[in-house]
Amino acid sequence: MAEKIKMVDLQGQYMRIRDEVDAGIREVIGSAAFINGPAVGQFRENLGRYLGGIHVIPCANGTDALFIALLSLGLKPGDEVIVPAFTYVSSAEVIGLLGLTPVMVDVSPSTFNVTAENIRKALSPATKAVIPVHLFGQSCDMEPIMELAREHGLHVIEDNAQSLGADYRFRDGHTEKTGTIGTIGCTSFFPSKNLGCYGDGGAVFCHDDALAERIAMIANHGQKVKYHHTVLGCNSRLDTIQAAVLNAKLPHLDSYSQARRSAAGYYTARLKEIDPEGRFFETPAEAEYSTHVYHQYTLKIQGGLRDSLKSHLADRGIPSMIYYPLPLQEQEAFKGIAVAAEELTVSRDCARSVLSLPMHTELTHQMQDMVISGIADFFTGR
Ligand SMILES: *Cc1c(COP(=O)(O)O)cnc(C)c1O
Repeated sequence: MAEKIKMVDLQGQYMRIRDEVDAGIREVIGSAAFINGPAVGQFRENLGRYLGGIHVIPCANGTDALFIALLSLGLKPGDEVIVPAFTYVSSAEVIGLLGLTPVMVDVSPSTFNVTAENIRKALSPATKAVIPVHLFGQSCDMEPIMELAREHGLHVIEDNAQSLGADYRFRDGHTEKTGTIGTIGCTSFFPSKNLGCYGDGGAVFCHDDALAERIAMIANHGQKVKYHHTVLGCNSRLDTIQAAVLNAKLPHLDSYSQARRSAAGYYTARLKEIDPEGRFFETPAEAEYSTHVYHQYTLKIQGGLRDSLKSHLADRGIPSMIYYPLPLQEQEAFKGIAVAAEELTVSRDCARSVLSLPMHTELTHQMQDMVISGIADFFTGR
């Protein structure tokens, strides 16, 4: 009997590191250090070191990380923040919640990521910040984005919820971790993210000492000294139990990325055998300036057949997901709040053609073969 194929396999991954995780959780419970226990401080250090030396401020989730990052920049109502239209809602939601104006821009049809070129087209005198989202596991092309930001005095908040562990390569050949390049980086430890905990979690990164202090203060009710509130903040903490889980998992992050890359390589090689000319679908494009850590393995299905392929696979017990079925400009919540600088046709087309295949650290070739043959008989058996 073949194993059931899952979109994400968190149990299988846990079984391999069970002793480390269980010991960490037991220690937190045994010491009753539930709030800001030692594991949180350790994780802050561990992740900062992994990222090449940067301040890390852990918080409650990835959406809070973005919210806190924006709050720390002291923007005023009416200020514009540029965000891609093809992304998870969080990146734009926090802009609207703060009374700022989300300005939606289109993405690259091959990488799904926002480009400096599209950002430039959306600039106005009110533009104060840009949120490049490193979607599906690879970096936006950050060097031109940073040059543009310097030229126009913009803050850059990297939404790195999907690409923790990826490396961005600058033109001179040196690399930096995604999330450490802009003014501020944000990530999420939602269970299915590449570094996921067993509940909610997130973090904010930045190099600047004063800004890091301000971010930490905002995440803690705007206080540095207990009961003395300097600015308005929020209550956003990484749970100590989750920090213990993350301390156990962080040393494995690079091997997890490797496992994802290798599964992606297998998908791509086999799928290209089925469709060498890309008549049925496009396999993911790897940008030359980024490693791809494959948070998602996402195909673009040609000819309007995405939904029927998805149900064909489902009939065979093969899960697949649509990330994301609606671009932000078509979301009701943003009507009257967001503005679009252009037509956003690429985002619309992506939303109608993307299909993400099962992707996790425990995939076997046997499982992938089943996915691939499901796709093959859909396209070639008709
Ligand atoms: C998951 C995700 C977030 C939000 O993270 P949460 O921890 O779920 O709040 C933000 N941006 C992107 C691109 C994401 O994928």
